[in-house]
Amino acid sequence: MKKSKNMKQPKFYRPSNLQELWNVLDQYGEEACLMGGGTDVLVHLHEGDIAPRALVDVKGIESFHELDADDASVRIGAAVTFNEIKYDPNLQRVLPALSCAAGKVGAPPIQRKGTLVGNILTASPAGDGFVVAYGLDAQLTLLDKNGQKSVDIKDFILGPGKTDIHKDEIISGVTFSNHSKWQQQSFFKVGRRNSLAISVANGVVALAMNENGTVNDARICVGAVGPTPMRVCRAEELMKTQALSEELIESVGAIVSEEVKPITDLRASKDFRRHIVGVYVKRILNGFMKEQRHGH
Ligand SMILES: Cc1cc2nc3c(=O)[nH]c(=O)nc-3n(C[C@H](O)[C@H](O)[C@H](O)COP(=O)(O)OP(=O)(O)OC[C@H]3O[C@@H](n4cnc5c(N)ncnc54)[C@H](O)[C@@H]3O)c2cc1C
Repeated sequence: MKKSKNMKQPKFYRPSNLQELWNVLDQYGEEACLMGGGTDVLVHLHEGDIAPRALVDVKGIESFHELDADDASVRIGAAVTFNEIKYDPNLQRVLPALSCAAGKVGAPPIQRKGTLVGNILTASPAGDGFVVAYGLDAQLTLLDKNGQKSVDIKDFILGPGKTDIHKDEIISGVTFSNHSKWQQQSFFKVGRRNSLAISVANGVVALAMNENGTVNDARICVGAVGPTPMRVCRAEELMKTQALSEELIESVGAIVSEEVKPITDLRASKDFRRHIVGVYVKRILNGFMKEQRHGH
Protein backbone atom coordinates (compact mmCIF):
# COMPACT_ATOMS: atom_id res chain seq x y z
CA MET A 1 0.00 0.00 0.00
CA LYS A 2 3.05 2.33 -0.11
CA LYS A 3 2.19 5.46 -2.05
CA SER A 4 3.60 8.93 -2.63
CA LYS A 5 3.17 11.60 0.04
CA ASN A 6 0.72 13.70 -2.00
CA MET A 7 -1.98 11.03 -2.06
CA LYS A 8 -5.52 12.04 -1.11
CA GLN A 9 -6.26 12.14 2.62
CA PRO A 10 -8.21 9.10 3.81
CA LYS A 11 -11.79 9.47 4.96
CA PHE A 12 -12.11 9.16 8.74
CA TYR A 13 -14.71 6.89 10.38
CA ARG A 14 -15.49 6.31 14.03
CA PRO A 15 -18.17 3.61 14.15
CA SER A 16 -20.09 3.45 17.41
CA ASN A 17 -21.04 -0.23 17.16
CA LEU A 18 -19.86 -3.40 15.44
CA GLN A 19 -22.48 -3.29 12.71
CA GLU A 20 -21.29 0.16 11.62
CA LEU A 21 -17.72 -1.10 11.74
CA TRP A 22 -18.42 -4.10 9.50
CA ASN A 23 -20.27 -1.80 7.08
CA VAL A 24 -17.21 0.43 6.68
CA LEU A 25 -14.87 -2.56 6.36
CA ASP A 26 -17.19 -4.06 3.71
CA GLN A 27 -17.27 -0.81 1.82
CA TYR A 28 -13.48 -0.31 1.70
CA GLY A 29 -12.09 -3.84 1.96
CA GLU A 30 -8.28 -3.80 1.94
CA GLU A 31 -8.27 -0.04 1.53
CA ALA A 32 -9.52 0.44 5.09
CA CYS A 33 -7.01 0.80 7.91
CA LEU A 34 -8.05 0.12 11.50
CA MET A 35 -6.77 2.48 14.12
CA GLY A 36 -6.65 2.47 17.94
CA GLY A 37 -4.65 5.43 19.23
CA GLY A 38 -3.13 6.01 15.79
CA THR A 39 0.38 6.50 17.21
CA ASP A 40 1.85 4.02 14.73
CA VAL A 41 -0.73 4.36 11.94
CA LEU A 42 -0.46 8.15 11.69
CA VAL A 43 3.35 7.98 11.50
CA HIS A 44 3.12 5.48 8.64
CA LEU A 45 0.51 7.63 6.92
CA HIS A 46 2.62 10.74 7.27
CA GLU A 47 5.68 8.94 5.92
CA GLY A 48 3.71 7.69 2.92
CA ASP A 49 4.27 4.04 3.91
CA ILE A 50 0.52 3.40 3.75
CA ALA A 51 -2.24 5.11 1.80
CA PRO A 52 -5.62 3.77 2.94
CA ARG A 53 -8.84 5.31 1.59
CA ALA A 54 -10.49 4.96 5.01
CA LEU A 55 -9.16 5.27 8.55
CA VAL A 56 -11.40 3.40 10.94
CA ASP A 57 -11.05 4.41 14.59
CA VAL A 58 -12.17 1.62 16.93
CA LYS A 59 -12.37 3.86 20.00
CA GLY A 60 -16.03 4.73 19.31
CA ILE A 61 -17.07 1.19 20.27
CA GLU A 62 -18.00 1.30 23.92
CA SER A 63 -17.32 -2.34 24.77
CA PHE A 64 -13.70 -1.93 23.54
CA HIS A 65 -13.08 0.37 26.54
CA GLU A 66 -13.49 -2.50 29.02
CA LEU A 67 -10.68 -2.84 31.58
CA ASP A 68 -11.28 -5.56 34.16
CA ALA A 69 -8.56 -7.01 36.35
CA ASP A 70 -8.73 -9.46 39.22
CA ASP A 71 -6.87 -12.58 40.32
CA ALA A 72 -8.81 -14.85 37.97
CA SER A 73 -8.50 -12.86 34.77
CA VAL A 74 -7.48 -9.61 33.17
CA ARG A 75 -9.39 -8.24 30.21
CA ILE A 76 -8.15 -5.20 28.31
CA GLY A 77 -10.29 -3.91 25.45
CA ALA A 78 -8.85 -2.69 22.15
CA ALA A 79 -9.57 0.97 22.98
CA VAL A 80 -7.90 0.93 26.42
CA THR A 81 -4.89 3.24 26.46
CA PHE A 82 -1.53 2.69 28.12
CA ASN A 83 -2.40 5.54 30.47
CA GLU A 84 -5.43 3.61 31.73
CA ILE A 85 -3.34 0.46 32.05
CA LYS A 86 -0.65 2.34 33.96
CA TYR A 87 -3.01 3.84 36.53
CA ASP A 88 -5.61 1.09 37.04
CA PRO A 89 -5.19 0.03 40.71
CA ASN A 90 -6.47 -3.52 40.16
CA LEU A 91 -4.10 -4.06 37.28
CA GLN A 92 -1.22 -2.62 39.27
CA ARG A 93 -1.95 -5.27 41.89
CA VAL A 94 -2.49 -8.35 39.73
CA LEU A 95 -0.30 -7.63 36.67
CA PRO A 96 2.30 -5.09 37.82
CA ALA A 97 4.73 -5.94 34.99
CA LEU A 98 2.18 -4.69 32.45
CA SER A 99 1.34 -1.50 34.41
CA CYS A 100 5.05 -0.78 34.61
CA ALA A 101 5.57 -1.38 30.87
CA ALA A 102 2.64 0.93 30.09
CA GLY A 103 4.36 3.71 32.00
CA LYS A 104 7.52 3.27 29.92
CA VAL A 105 5.95 3.53 26.47
CA GLY A 106 7.13 6.69 24.71
CA ALA A 107 6.04 9.56 26.92
CA PRO A 108 2.72 10.63 28.53
CA PRO A 109 1.15 11.97 25.28
CA ILE A 110 1.81 8.60 23.58
CA GLN A 111 0.52 6.72 26.64
CA ARG A 112 -2.70 8.75 26.53
CA LYS A 113 -3.38 7.63 22.94
CA GLY A 114 -1.58 4.33 22.34
CA THR A 115 -3.19 0.98 23.11
CA LEU A 116 -1.86 -2.45 24.05
CA VAL A 117 -3.73 -3.96 21.10
CA GLY A 118 -2.04 -1.50 18.71
CA ASN A 119 1.32 -2.32 20.27
CA ILE A 120 0.77 -6.05 19.69
CA LEU A 121 -0.53 -5.55 16.15
CA THR A 122 2.50 -3.45 15.24
CA ALA A 123 4.58 -6.46 16.37
CA SER A 124 7.76 -4.43 16.74
CA PRO A 125 10.52 -6.58 18.30
CA ALA A 126 10.99 -3.67 20.74
CA GLY A 127 7.31 -3.21 21.73
CA ASP A 128 7.09 -2.64 25.49
CA GLY A 129 3.53 -3.86 26.12
CA PHE A 130 4.06 -6.54 23.49
CA VAL A 131 6.95 -8.26 25.34
CA VAL A 132 4.86 -8.54 28.53
CA ALA A 133 1.81 -9.82 26.65
CA TYR A 134 4.01 -12.37 24.86
CA GLY A 135 5.89 -13.43 27.98
CA LEU A 136 2.84 -13.80 30.20
CA ASP A 137 0.70 -15.77 27.73
CA ALA A 138 -1.86 -13.22 26.57
CA GLN A 139 -4.81 -14.45 24.53
CA LEU A 140 -6.23 -12.23 21.80
CA THR A 141 -9.92 -12.06 21.00
CA LEU A 142 -10.44 -11.87 17.24
CA LEU A 143 -13.81 -10.88 15.82
CA ASP A 144 -15.23 -11.22 12.35
CA LYS A 145 -18.79 -10.95 11.12
CA ASN A 146 -19.46 -14.59 11.99
CA GLY A 147 -18.32 -14.54 15.60
CA GLN A 148 -15.24 -14.52 17.76
CA LYS A 149 -12.28 -16.73 18.61
CA SER A 150 -9.49 -16.65 21.12
CA VAL A 151 -5.90 -17.02 19.87
CA ASP A 152 -2.69 -17.54 21.80
CA ILE A 153 -0.38 -14.60 21.14
CA LYS A 154 2.47 -16.98 20.27
CA ASP A 155 0.46 -18.46 17.41
CA PHE A 156 -0.62 -15.01 16.24
CA ILE A 157 2.82 -13.44 15.87
CA LEU A 158 4.52 -14.53 12.66
CA GLY A 159 7.61 -12.30 12.67
CA PRO A 160 8.69 -8.69 13.00
CA GLY A 161 5.71 -6.56 11.95
CA LYS A 162 3.82 -9.68 10.87
CA THR A 163 0.70 -11.11 12.51
CA ASP A 164 -1.89 -13.67 11.56
CA ILE A 165 -4.77 -11.20 11.28
CA HIS A 166 -6.98 -11.40 8.20
CA LYS A 167 -8.47 -8.45 6.40
CA ASP A 168 -11.99 -9.11 7.66
CA GLU A 169 -10.88 -9.50 11.29
CA ILE A 170 -10.45 -7.11 14.15
CA ILE A 171 -9.13 -7.57 17.66
CA SER A 172 -11.57 -6.64 20.40
CA GLY A 173 -9.22 -7.16 23.34
CA VAL A 174 -6.50 -9.03 25.19
CA THR A 175 -6.95 -11.40 28.14
CA PHE A 176 -4.60 -12.93 30.67
CA SER A 177 -5.64 -15.84 32.84
CA ASN A 178 -2.44 -17.33 34.30
CA HIS A 179 -1.08 -14.07 35.62
CA SER A 180 -1.81 -14.59 39.33
CA LYS A 181 0.56 -17.55 39.59
CA TRP A 182 3.49 -15.13 39.09
CA GLN A 183 3.94 -13.90 42.68
CA GLN A 184 6.97 -11.92 41.61
CA GLN A 185 7.02 -10.17 38.25
CA SER A 186 8.92 -7.26 36.87
CA PHE A 187 9.40 -5.41 33.58
CA PHE A 188 12.62 -3.75 32.47
CA LYS A 189 13.45 -1.39 29.65
CA VAL A 190 16.83 -0.17 28.48
CA GLY A 191 16.66 2.89 26.28
CA ARG A 192 19.01 5.62 25.20
CA ARG A 193 17.15 8.12 27.38
CA ASN A 194 14.37 8.04 29.94
CA SER A 195 11.46 8.95 27.73
CA LEU A 196 10.62 8.85 24.03
CA ALA A 197 13.13 6.05 23.58
CA ILE A 198 12.46 2.87 21.65
CA SER A 199 13.85 -0.01 23.71
CA VAL A 200 17.42 -1.13 23.13
CA ALA A 201 16.34 -4.15 25.15
CA ASN A 202 13.31 -4.90 27.31
CA GLY A 203 11.74 -7.85 29.02
CA VAL A 204 9.62 -9.42 31.69
CA VAL A 205 10.85 -11.73 34.44
CA ALA A 206 8.35 -13.63 36.60
CA LEU A 207 8.57 -16.32 39.28
CA ALA A 208 6.05 -18.71 40.83
CA MET A 209 7.42 -20.03 44.13
CA ASN A 210 6.83 -23.21 46.11
CA GLU A 211 6.08 -22.95 49.82
CA ASN A 212 9.56 -24.28 50.63
CA GLY A 213 11.14 -21.28 48.88
CA THR A 214 12.13 -23.03 45.66
CA VAL A 215 11.10 -21.92 42.20
CA ASN A 216 8.02 -23.71 40.90
CA ASP A 217 7.96 -21.97 37.53
CA ALA A 218 9.89 -19.16 35.90
CA ARG A 219 9.35 -16.87 32.96
CA ILE A 220 12.00 -14.83 31.21
CA CYS A 221 10.94 -13.14 27.99
CA VAL A 222 13.14 -10.53 26.35
CA GLY A 223 12.57 -8.09 23.49
CA ALA A 224 14.61 -6.09 20.96
CA VAL A 225 17.17 -8.90 20.95
CA GLY A 226 15.59 -11.02 18.21
CA PRO A 227 12.91 -10.75 15.52
CA THR A 228 10.10 -11.23 18.07
CA PRO A 229 10.04 -11.30 21.88
CA MET A 230 11.75 -14.51 22.95
CA ARG A 231 11.44 -16.72 25.98
CA VAL A 232 14.73 -18.00 27.35
CA CYS A 233 13.47 -21.48 28.14
CA ARG A 234 16.89 -22.90 29.08
CA ALA A 235 17.22 -20.33 31.87
CA GLU A 236 13.61 -20.88 32.96
CA GLU A 237 14.19 -24.62 33.23
CA LEU A 238 17.43 -24.17 35.17
CA MET A 239 15.64 -22.24 37.90
CA LYS A 240 12.88 -24.78 38.49
CA THR A 241 13.04 -26.57 41.88
CA GLN A 242 15.97 -24.43 42.99
CA ALA A 243 16.05 -21.62 45.54
CA LEU A 244 17.38 -18.31 44.25
CA SER A 245 21.06 -17.86 45.03
CA GLU A 246 23.85 -15.59 43.77
CA GLU A 247 25.32 -18.53 41.87
CA LEU A 248 22.05 -19.51 40.22
CA ILE A 249 21.36 -15.91 39.21
CA GLU A 250 24.83 -15.62 37.63
CA SER A 251 24.19 -18.76 35.58
CA VAL A 252 20.77 -17.52 34.48
CA GLY A 253 22.21 -14.16 33.37
CA ALA A 254 24.94 -15.94 31.38
CA ILE A 255 22.39 -18.16 29.62
CA VAL A 256 20.20 -15.17 28.74
CA SER A 257 23.17 -13.35 27.16
CA GLU A 258 24.14 -16.50 25.25
CA GLU A 259 20.69 -17.38 23.93
CA VAL A 260 19.48 -14.05 22.54
CA LYS A 261 19.88 -13.18 18.86
CA PRO A 262 20.38 -9.41 18.73
CA ILE A 263 21.38 -7.30 15.77
CA THR A 264 23.35 -4.06 15.59
CA ASP A 265 21.28 -1.04 14.57
CA LEU A 266 21.37 2.71 15.09
CA ARG A 267 20.34 2.35 18.74
CA ALA A 268 22.90 -0.22 19.97
CA SER A 269 25.38 -2.88 18.96
CA LYS A 270 24.51 -6.54 19.19
CA ASP A 271 27.27 -7.06 21.78
CA PHE A 272 25.85 -4.35 24.02
CA ARG A 273 22.34 -5.79 23.74
CA ARG A 274 23.60 -9.29 24.53
CA HIS A 275 25.42 -8.00 27.60
CA ILE A 276 22.70 -5.70 28.91
CA VAL A 277 19.79 -8.19 28.85
CA GLY A 278 21.83 -10.51 31.06
CA VAL A 279 22.63 -7.64 33.44
CA TYR A 280 18.97 -6.60 33.75
CA VAL A 281 17.64 -10.11 34.23
CA LYS A 282 20.19 -10.65 37.01
CA ARG A 283 19.29 -7.30 38.57
CA ILE A 284 15.61 -8.25 38.72
CA LEU A 285 16.32 -11.72 40.11
CA ASN A 286 18.60 -10.24 42.78
CA GLY A 287 15.74 -7.92 43.74
CA PHE A 288 13.36 -10.88 43.96
CA MET A 289 15.84 -12.79 46.13
CA LYS A 290 16.14 -9.85 48.53
CA GLU A 291 12.34 -9.55 48.74
CA GLN A 292 12.09 -13.26 49.53
CA ARG A 293 14.72 -13.01 52.23
CA HIS A 294 12.90 -10.08 53.81
CA GLY A 295 9.60 -11.95 53.65
CA HIS A 296 7.74 -9.73 51.14
C1 LIG B 1 6.90 9.31 19.50
C2 LIG B 1 6.60 7.85 19.65
C3 LIG B 1 7.20 7.12 20.66
C4 LIG B 1 6.91 5.77 20.82
N1 LIG B 1 7.52 5.07 21.83
C5 LIG B 1 7.24 3.77 22.01
C6 LIG B 1 7.85 3.04 23.07
O1 LIG B 1 8.63 3.56 23.86
N2 LIG B 1 7.53 1.72 23.20
C7 LIG B 1 6.67 1.09 22.36
O2 LIG B 1 6.42 -0.10 22.54
N3 LIG B 1 6.08 1.75 21.33
C8 LIG B 1 6.34 3.07 21.13
N4 LIG B 1 5.75 3.75 20.10
C9 LIG B 1 4.90 3.04 19.16
C10 LIG B 1 3.37 3.12 19.46
O3 LIG B 1 3.06 4.22 20.28
C11 LIG B 1 2.88 1.84 20.12
O4 LIG B 1 3.17 0.73 19.30
C12 LIG B 1 1.37 1.88 20.42
O5 LIG B 1 1.08 0.87 21.35
C13 LIG B 1 0.50 1.68 19.21
O6 LIG B 1 -0.85 1.68 19.67
P1 LIG B 1 -1.97 2.51 18.89
O7 LIG B 1 -3.26 2.24 19.56
O8 LIG B 1 -1.58 3.92 18.73
O9 LIG B 1 -1.89 1.75 17.49
P2 LIG B 1 -2.35 2.26 16.07
O10 LIG B 1 -1.33 3.16 15.50
O11 LIG B 1 -3.75 2.77 16.12
O12 LIG B 1 -2.36 0.86 15.29
C14 LIG B 1 -1.20 0.04 15.20
C15 LIG B 1 -1.52 -1.16 14.32
O13 LIG B 1 -2.57 -1.93 14.88
C16 LIG B 1 -3.69 -2.03 14.00
N5 LIG B 1 -4.86 -1.99 14.88
C17 LIG B 1 -5.11 -1.10 15.88
N6 LIG B 1 -6.21 -1.47 16.56
C18 LIG B 1 -6.67 -2.61 15.99
C19 LIG B 1 -7.75 -3.49 16.27
N7 LIG B 1 -8.60 -3.27 17.27
N8 LIG B 1 -7.91 -4.59 15.51
C20 LIG B 1 -7.06 -4.83 14.47
N9 LIG B 1 -6.01 -4.04 14.15
C21 LIG B 1 -5.82 -2.94 14.90
C22 LIG B 1 -3.55 -0.85 13.07
O14 LIG B 1 -4.20 -1.06 11.82
C23 LIG B 1 -2.03 -0.78 12.94
O15 LIG B 1 -1.59 -1.75 12.03
C24 LIG B 1 6.00 5.12 19.92
C25 LIG B 1 5.39 5.86 18.91
C26 LIG B 1 5.67 7.21 18.76
C27 LIG B 1 4.99 7.99 17.68
